[in-house]
Amino acid sequence: MRLSRYFLPILKETPKEAEIVSHRLMLRAGMIRQESAGIYAWLPLGLRVLQKICAIVREEQNRAGAIELLMPTLQSADLWRESGRYDDYGKEMLRIRDRHERDILYGPTNEEMITEIFRASVRSYKDLPLNLYHIQWKFRDEVRPRFGVMRSREFLMKDAYSFDLDQAGARHSYNKMITAYLRTFKRLGLTAIPMMADTGPIGGDLSHEFIILASTGESEVFCHKDYLGFETPPETIDFDDPAAMQAVFDKWTSLYAATSEKHDAAAFAALPEEARVSARGIEVGHIFYFGTKYSAPMKAVVNGPDGKETAVHMGSYGIGPSRLAAALIEANHDEAGPIWPDAVAPFRVGLINLKVGDAACDGASARIHRALEAAGVDVLYDDRDERPGAKFAAMDLVGAPHQVIVGPKSLAEGKVELKIRRSGERELLGVEAAIDRLG
Ligand code: ATP
Ligand code: MG
Ligand code: MG
Ligand code: MG
Repeated sequence: MRLSRYFLPILKETPKEAEIVSHRLMLRAGMIRQESAGIYAWLPLGLRVLQKICAIVREEQNRAGAIELLMPTLQSADLWRESGRYDDYGKEMLRIRDRHERDILYGPTNEEMITEIFRASVRSYKDLPLNLYHIQWKFRDEVRPRFGVMRSREFLMKDAYSFDLDQAGARHSYNKMITAYLRTFKRLGLTAIPMMADTGPIGGDLSHEFIILASTGESEVFCHKDYLGFETPPETIDFDDPAAMQAVFDKWTSLYAATSEKHDAAAFAALPEEARVSARGIEVGHIFYFGTKYSAPMKAVVNGPDGKETAVHMGSYGIGPSRLAAALIEANHDEAGPIWPDAVAPFRVGLINLKVGDAACDGASARIHRALEAAGVDVLYDDRDERPGAKFAAMDLVGAPHQVIVGPKSLAEGKVELKIRRSGERELLGVEAAIDRLG
């Protein structure tokens, strides 16, 4: 991508309304733009990050056996009357009336709708287990939308819903999602710890929030330090092996970890002092097992092996990709901008031509640009006629983890400069060697 032809509305001034670094940088880098309170447009650079996050989330959901579908954002109020949540949900729900005076709502979550989809076609225990998910916009009329897309009113959620014949099956489904989540966050370059959590309006009695530690987090959390060094389940783990899944659950719940709502001060105080982590955290995912809370009132039943009808046991599993985009910046940045992990970088390589119009610089830059794009690398090529300082600043703000700097001096010796954004390390390499290194 040539920067001269891209849409990258970088802000010169630091926006005053932004209180935390991720919000500031997302606005400055032209990743997002607020359209009204808590409602954001994702500009091209931001959208690239969001899509890369979703791709990893999707891969790990699929690996765990979940199946993707897409439910609408608008839902009928009648569905929510069936579960009893229409009145309970309160002011966070955006309620709308259509031209026929029918009550509809912009979905804050989808337990009711997925239960309706399930009950319409599944009749037998032989069709279980089933886990269905989508990645769809949600709306919650948050009292205090803030921190940009970290707490917005419209936000993206991956929500999965599992259906099992009994509690044992449902626990296996829950364990699979824990495993998938650990892998997802690890691939995003984050350390997320599952912590015992409250179930809120979703309900149920078993629940974990996935928390990443960050000083700007809105949750107060307590956990054992050793979680920070735990190993993540490998790609080869067998999701269909209940014992293997149970082992992941056991390991990741073996030590103390709780959000403030579930905090047990005495149990925490019993840990050795150096093992106690008491910190702020960002909730990036939340999983629930709630048995028959929705299936019983909504009559989502199957015929069991004994021929009797039973309400299915359900769980739901959320991840916030739009919040994650901000959380990733909270965890990876410096004064100059975000430092994206390769897996989610909007562009993996930033190519800077320091002397546009110079035949040698133009030629070498074009050669690198073409070769890397042909190799499938996302490259942002700064081909604008701008001062070097402005180009360096723009590329740091974009956050490309690898930068290639093409300038007349080095090029006279056949070299270009490679810079690693995270460490600041620089190295001179030949043009072809640079292509080989990054391709
Ligand atoms: P919070 O405690 O931050 O209000 P929640 O517990 O209400 O979140 P859940 O119902 O558990 O949220 O939703 C699942 C996931 O959706 C959350 O873990 C989070 O990643 C994301 N999410 C929830 N609310 C928002 C929001 N207002 N803006 C961005 N992401 C959100
Ligand atoms: Mg909430
Ligand atoms: Mg919460
Ligand atoms: Mg939650």
